[in-house]
Amino acid sequence: MKTLLRCSALFLSVVAVANLAAASRADWHVEFPPVKIAGNLYYVGTADLAIYLIHTPAGNILINANYPQDLPLLRKSIAQLGFNYTDTKILLISHAHGDHDAAVGLIKKETGARLMVMAPDVAPVESTATGRPGAKVDRVLHDGDTVELGGSTLTARLTPGHTPGCTTWTMRVADGGRTLDAVIIGSPNVNVGFILVGNKKYPQIADDYVRCFDVLKKLPADLFLGAHGGYFGLKEKFAAMQPGGPNPFVDPAGYTTYVATKAAAFRQEWERQKLNPGSPKP
Ligand SMILES: [Zn+2]
Repeated sequence: MKTLLRCSALFLSVVAVANLAAASRADWHVEFPPVKIAGNLYYVGTADLAIYLIHTPAGNILINANYPQDLPLLRKSIAQLGFNYTDTKILLISHAHGDHDAAVGLIKKETGARLMVMAPDVAPVESTATGRPGAKVDRVLHDGDTVELGGSTLTARLTPGHTPGCTTWTMRVADGGRTLDAVIIGSPNVNVGFILVGNKKYPQIADDYVRCFDVLKKLPADLFLGAHGGYFGLKEKFAAMQPGGPNPFVDPAGYTTYVATKAAAFRQEWERQKLNPGSPKP
């Protein structure tokens, strides 16, 4: 009976996780209103695939590109804010997976933006393999490098594991007389199929995840953001916005809890794989 109960609890949690993943994937190409997060930092992505716009007097920075099919929504969101898509001067990414970088080549072509990518993710961004953008990287970044435009400065933090060059972007945002620390998490997730022990293509993957969580745990975070809206509850926080009310995106406690939860999930999966070397995450 106990085993049966445990099995059904496990089954339910697997179903819940699968439903959650399916629900967020269903939002990938769904239109979402553009959102002023704080100061000159805006959300211009879909209902789950996050794109951030930093507006400056010298033009705009975009973080992430999503898929080519999402480009009309990106152009629309930028126009709705009263900005010009063609003023995009710098293009950055969270990491070299298609849901964040597939359209970087098109955006470069349409805007002339300079593409800047963390060193270990440069090869997959420049790759012309199926589903890869095949875009020339104009500046290769390393941990701690800064990207500056029109008085705004972003810092690139290497938070590897999910990809070798996975990047968490930080920025100090001036907002109504206060300064907020924004953190845009690259990805802390161990995806289905990822091999943490005995990974021939990425031997140091587990050590990289350890480094990723060491970095994330130390970052000061007022504005909790990430590469997917689902990381930080985009839809719920957007719904909670009230004129003159507190900014729901200011959520340091949510950030701390999220990072701790993801670090624990990684540790648990790492321990499982240590007992089963070479077995991918189910
Ligand atoms: Zn990814």
